[in-house]
Amino acid sequence: MEKNWKMLADKLAKNHNLEAEELLWLYLNRNKERNQYLYETARKVREEIYGKEIYIRGLIEISNYCRNDCYYCGIRRSNQKVRRYRLSESQILDCCRKGYALGFYTFVLQGGEDGYYTDERLAKIISSIKREFPDCAVTLSLGERSRESYQRLYDAGADRYLLRHETADCRHYRKLHPKELSLEHRMQCLEELKEIGYQTGAGFMVGSPGQTPECLIKDFCYLKKLAPEMVGIGPFLSHKDTPFRDCENGTLEDTLFCLAVVRLLLPQVLLPATTALGTVDPTGRKKGILAGANVVMPNLSPQSVREDYLLYDHKASTGVESAEGLKELEKEMESVGFQVVKARGDWKQK
Ligand code: SAH
Repeated sequence: MEKNWKMLADKLAKNHNLEAEELLWLYLNRNKERNQYLYETARKVREEIYGKEIYIRGLIEISNYCRNDCYYCGIRRSNQKVRRYRLSESQILDCCRKGYALGFYTFVLQGGEDGYYTDERLAKIISSIKREFPDCAVTLSLGERSRESYQRLYDAGADRYLLRHETADCRHYRKLHPKELSLEHRMQCLEELKEIGYQTGAGFMVGSPGQTPECLIKDFCYLKKLAPEMVGIGPFLSHKDTPFRDCENGTLEDTLFCLAVVRLLLPQVLLPATTALGTVDPTGRKKGILAGANVVMPNLSPQSVREDYLLYDHKASTGVESAEGLKELEKEMESVGFQVVKARGDWKQK
């Protein structure tokens, strides 16, 4: 095995792959200067495919009701302190209208696993959006559903689906989730989404409780194998009303490292600089873009509910993180040489 850090990084950039042990060595021997080299390398690979363009997505948080009890998540079922809400079809359509006027061509409908949103209700919402905005993409991020359900929503017009695998290590998955949930089923959902034809997004949190370097390497290997069109990566951030309230947050640097590695493993991937990254550090978004990310997802939810969709403490939903702050976001991206484009921003086949 090559034990020169930069040469291994170059090999990753050239082959878009490395052995697990090489990835582990790269990770264990990272430092500030070496990381910078990795970020630059990832940025170049990204620019070969997506140039200087940044795609934007309007994030509509449709419900904070959730049947699940994930230990890390602020809107978990057991959190009695949450003021629960769900948006109606007309509220969701209003968000889309507002977003479209601002220049958004992708709407992401995200929420807890809320039984209210039956296939029938969702199919109706999706087809209404597609009827009114045929030039826009609809992305769903609504957790685990049956294959039939995913198919029905796809047939109604949904284009993409985000479902982070959260961790590719079974034991770590058990530490993050109650026993009703399984990694096996999560991965099965991802396979089904791909088979149906969705542009599919997996992903994980960086620095979640119990995550070891070996877990991270498994995440990289799993992503390489699954080859999703999108990958969502952000630091774990604790929420005061969850069992992980006292756990340490993931770091900016480790998240940037993961973004860069994923860009190099999957050159075409649609890779957001996430809200969590912008929350852990005010320069996080910019730095994410400079480490290979090419998507930003400002918040397009109604103002009245933004405070209620708190997955973690201090979650940003104003300024650059809000759809209304698009001008500010454009300036921020321009300041590092990138340009927000008003387009659907689909995954690019080589
Ligand atoms: N219910 C949907 C949407 C979940 S919210 C689903 O199951 O896919 C989207 C993502 O936010 C999650 O996949 C998780 O990775 C992330 N998230 C949740 N709680 C978090 C926390 N405390 N810190 C950082 N990210 C968190």
